[in-house]
Amino acid sequence: MDIVVSGIRSTGNLHLGNYFGAVRNFVKMQHENKCFFFIADYHSLTTHPKPEDLQGNIKQVLSEFLACGIDPEMATVFVQSDVPEVAELYLLLNMNAYVGELQRTASFKEKIRKQPDNINAGLLTYPVLMAADIIIHKANKVPVGKDQEQHLEMTRRFARRFNSMYGVNYFPEPEAYNFGSRLIKIPGLDGSGKMGKSEGNGIFLSDPPEEIRKKVMRAVTDSGPVEPNQKMPVPIKNLFTIMGVVSEPSTVKHFREKYASCEIRYGEMKKQLAEDIIRFISPVREKILAISSDDRYLAKVMKEGAEKARASASATVRDVKEIIGYRKMF
Ligand code: ATP
Ligand code: MG
Repeated sequence: MDIVVSGIRSTGNLHLGNYFGAVRNFVKMQHENKCFFFIADYHSLTTHPKPEDLQGNIKQVLSEFLACGIDPEMATVFVQSDVPEVAELYLLLNMNAYVGELQRTASFKEKIRKQPDNINAGLLTYPVLMAADIIIHKANKVPVGKDQEQHLEMTRRFARRFNSMYGVNYFPEPEAYNFGSRLIKIPGLDGSGKMGKSEGNGIFLSDPPEEIRKKVMRAVTDSGPVEPNQKMPVPIKNLFTIMGVVSEPSTVKHFREKYASCEIRYGEMKKQLAEDIIRFISPVREKILAISSDDRYLAKVMKEGAEKARASASATVRDVKEIIGYRKMF
């Protein structure tokens, strides 16, 4: 049985990209593997959330996890900061992580560009915390989107380095989880590459129908094809990609044919897409609303998840400290 670990930052609500790129796969995996799914609220501090928002964000994302079908009876679902052992392993791993390699990480370079006024050390050491999250449960499989490949490679390197530094074979080198299909990247509707929380272009699982209609109708398009079977520009391809995951195949086929014969009306296509997204999201949204108002249930899930995660994490930290050379004197 594989041990699987994956987390999602609590900086904002889940969007269609998180769902199709990650959470949908978590739901599938939990049946056959020992899974740890967590809400990365330590990681979220790199963008300095307000204290009055932090807890609400955690509660919201947890409700969304559960509404999507992650089952706390099968998987260990927990909040990262409820497992302080991860902070201790992060400290220990930081001693063997080199500033040069951290500075060369693509995500760090991107953050420097995106938030030049807040280049904190947490951003620099983000891959070390991510490695700690994963190897603290001795995971061998990690389901990540395409955007996380380099971080996973660093996790493997830190695990390997620890093993060779102390001459042990303690940490497995985790691999990307293979679903037997290509990784999906959900694009934004603003013509950009990726739907993302920091991109500000998310269609959220908690969006009410009116909001979805507004967002979809605003999607970037062009003036339409002028000759049959013309190559599709990126913003139009993006509309079709999203349609591909939420609509019936016959609907996609219909609009593809209209495009090929230059008869497409984008207004019509967007209306259909909005309704199909609403049809997909509505039942999930209702569950989110019900679960998020049930504080007792959420507290129970958090408590039980924290206990299970801590049991696994503290055993690892104890072993690691012993390997490093700490000896119990009392
Ligand atoms: P941020 O902007 O804060 O990085 P995000 O929207 O990229 O947020 P994350 O919390 O970084 O979301 O990602 C959680 C999971 O969702 C990861 O496994 C990531 O690969 C996946 N993911 C995020 N955006 C997309 C997307 N547009 N398509 C497919 N997968 C995605
Ligand atoms: Mg991201």
